[in-house]
Amino acid sequence: MKLILLGAPGAGKGTQAEVICEHLQIPAISTGNMIREALKNGTEMGLKAKSYMESGALVPDDVVIGIIKERLAKEDCQKGFILDGFPRTVPQAEALDAMGVEIDKVIDIEVADEKIEQRLSGRRVCEKCGASYHVDFKPSKVSGVCDKCGGATVVRKDDEPATVRDRLKTYHAQTEPLKEYYAKTGKLVIVEGQEEVADTTRLTLAAVEG
Ligand code: ADP
Ligand code: ZN
Repeated sequence: MKLILLGAPGAGKGTQAEVICEHLQIPAISTGNMIREALKNGTEMGLKAKSYMESGALVPDDVVIGIIKERLAKEDCQKGFILDGFPRTVPQAEALDAMGVEIDKVIDIEVADEKIEQRLSGRRVCEKCGASYHVDFKPSKVSGVCDKCGGATVVRKDDEPATVRDRLKTYHAQTEPLKEYYAKTGKLVIVEGQEEVADTTRLTLAAVEG
């Protein structure tokens, strides 16, 4: 199964990607996590991406397309994958098509802008493995410590309110047009994000299996 998760920043794509990953035993691929990892390791790509990411803008298409091409060529992607945060622009979607990748479903998780800010202020991510948590909706078992790897969970720089507003603008201008792009292919399924993570998960899994 080859899946794309669409949705605004903070809609819960990462959380749902982790659930589907365990459920279907296919890798969840987050361009955001990959870029953050590159940044942490001080690679050339990470340095190139830094200023865009921290200001809430998108990293240039050629950079992310390069990352995805390399990642999808790996052995573990051959039986399927979940793309979390890619594509994020129409040219990225076109590049994916040009690679000959046949997507089965595109799941769009919808959350109103008003809720996004509240959600992102409580978001924490593991410094080490990128797993995401929320202080109210999805706390780690021990506060500040990742359930999966024991790493420290921290607030992301781009989750500060001013940057969140810019990310939402970017989302509406550049990513939202992908809904129409995929609606035309008949592969788009809309999931309404719920208050409770478990409820969104139920709807997402139903969308995957339906
Ligand atoms: P969120 O979905 O919460 O915004 P991500 O971790 O997916 O978080 O992305 C964080 C940032 O990484 C984005 O704001 C952007 O700067 C960069 N990024 C991630 N994926 C892409 C992509 N496909 N194209 C361009 N930039 C990206
Ligand atoms: Zn971790």
